[in-house]
Amino acid sequence: MSSAVRPKTWMPGSCPGKGPDKASPTSDTIFAPATAAGPAAIAVLRLSGPDAARAVCSLTGNLPPARSARRRRLVDPETSEPLDDALVLWFPAPASFTGEDVAEFHLHGSRAVLSAVITALGRLGLRLAEPGEFTRRAFLNNKLDLTQAEAITDLAAAETEAQRRQALRQLDGALGGLYRDWSGRLTRALAHLEAAIDFPDEDLPPAIEDRILGDIRTLAAEIAGHLADGRRGERLRDGIMVAIVGPPNAGKSSLLNRIARREAAITSPIPGTTRDIVEVAIDLAGYPVVLADTAGLRDSNNPVEQEGLRRARRRAEEAEIRLFVFDARHPADAIGAAAWPGPDTIPVANKIDLLQKIPLRPTGGKEPRPASFSPSPASGGGKGGGGTVRGESAIGPGAPTSPQPSPPSWAERGKESAAGEFAGAVFPISALTGDGLDILLNALGSRIAETYHNEAPLLTRARHRQALEDAAVSLARALAADLPELRAEDLRLALRSLGHITGTVDVEDLLDIIFRDFCLGK
Ligand code: GDP
Repeated sequence: MSSAVRPKTWMPGSCPGKGPDKASPTSDTIFAPATAAGPAAIAVLRLSGPDAARAVCSLTGNLPPARSARRRRLVDPETSEPLDDALVLWFPAPASFTGEDVAEFHLHGSRAVLSAVITALGRLGLRLAEPGEFTRRAFLNNKLDLTQAEAITDLAAAETEAQRRQALRQLDGALGGLYRDWSGRLTRALAHLEAAIDFPDEDLPPAIEDRILGDIRTLAAEIAGHLADGRRGERLRDGIMVAIVGPPNAGKSSLLNRIARREAAITSPIPGTTRDIVEVAIDLAGYPVVLADTAGLRDSNNPVEQEGLRRARRRAEEAEIRLFVFDARHPADAIGAAAWPGPDTIPVANKIDLLQKIPLRPTGGKEPRPASFSPSPASGGGKGGGGTVRGESAIGPGAPTSPQPSPPSWAERGKESAAGEFAGAVFPISALTGDGLDILLNALGSRIAETYHNEAPLLTRARHRQALEDAAVSLARALAADLPELRAEDLRLALRSLGHITGTVDVEDLLDIIFRDFCLGK
């Protein structure tokens, strides 16, 4: 890792002479707009590198005091033409984002102003930054580790509260700190082992071998625990998958449309979806959820429909949670939910508006309630064995109507369901009128919050997972090794894998891949 931090700082008001500063490292000076393209009140142009001071002086006449904003007239040094009236900030190295001399021009946000200043900077010999180059320089100057650099893209891309919290925690160094702690402990174990190897006849504590093995075992268990996190961190970044499944015409698409309209915080269609699966990203109680509408489940000889069904089933398998939608007038269809048993399949009885003759509210009760549900084929009540949907709301003609002993209210059942009892409750809704939707979404939101609310730092990227899996394999091999020399080699490999995550080992080959994901100006 290079240490390109330049000790020399420019005094406020003073300007460096012409030509490149011989005392500075060879790194060139970059600039890029830090704000989004297009007309705006303000456009921030950021500069970093040894020539930043000269550029500020050339355009404004002098350097403002460090880290305090000054209003300046920007003038083209070649033509003496005024370019803009702007705020100028100056962050001398090393106390800057990149660790180099950094300046910011807060310009009026028009294309013409930006383009004029960019042209002037280009003539001064500065060059437009590559995507991610500012953060890359910050990493190379030890301003942040790789997990923090990655957190910057996540924070900029965060669309929900949960994503913002996770990214900020990672930027604060929670994840990097955890990995560094493991590296530190591994380094100690390795040092003790090497001491034992190098000085076999010395008077080392007799239990040292046991202690080293104990330390490695503890570490391996912690890494395994971190890896077995149900990919929650990665899912929080990418969106928690909720699949809407069920028989055709049950109202799956209507439900998706209804939710997308109501929870329209994020409604961008996600690219890369197959034609038969429609995805909508929504913000549910602060959590990013990707709702997927799938092909209706039924037997078919049509090869195209069969392919749709295959994809629907695969998506249902992959999803964290399934909303199994069926027509409330055909409660026997609920049996289909039994294909994915467990609390993560939520039966939803749709079209309750068509059950007008059935009272929706229990006598004396204030709220409607979800019906109890048993997907057991033995329950009888329809084709294919039939499940039962009991309770006053989801009962269609011909469905079982056995009275329930004062069941809890919808809201109470919703809360219970959020605690993991979905298999026992059906959520009656009408995608047409919106009835029952709030209760369903609240329960879904609580369930997601329960699973995903986490104070401990979570693994957020496949890159981290791969490196940790490599480290786990090396540690397992180290534990099984017969010879201390082989054990030490495996510990070194594990250490290297951990170092890849934070960037403490040589990661030059990784940098292009990581910083490629950044946008310009980061
Ligand atoms: P999908 O095949 O499961 O996606 O079902 P659709 O969403 O295409 O709906 C099938 C039909 O049922 C459409 O004509 C909808 O308008 C209608 N529909 C969907 N939900 C409701 C509802 O809650 N009440 C009523 N009355 N009709 C509904």
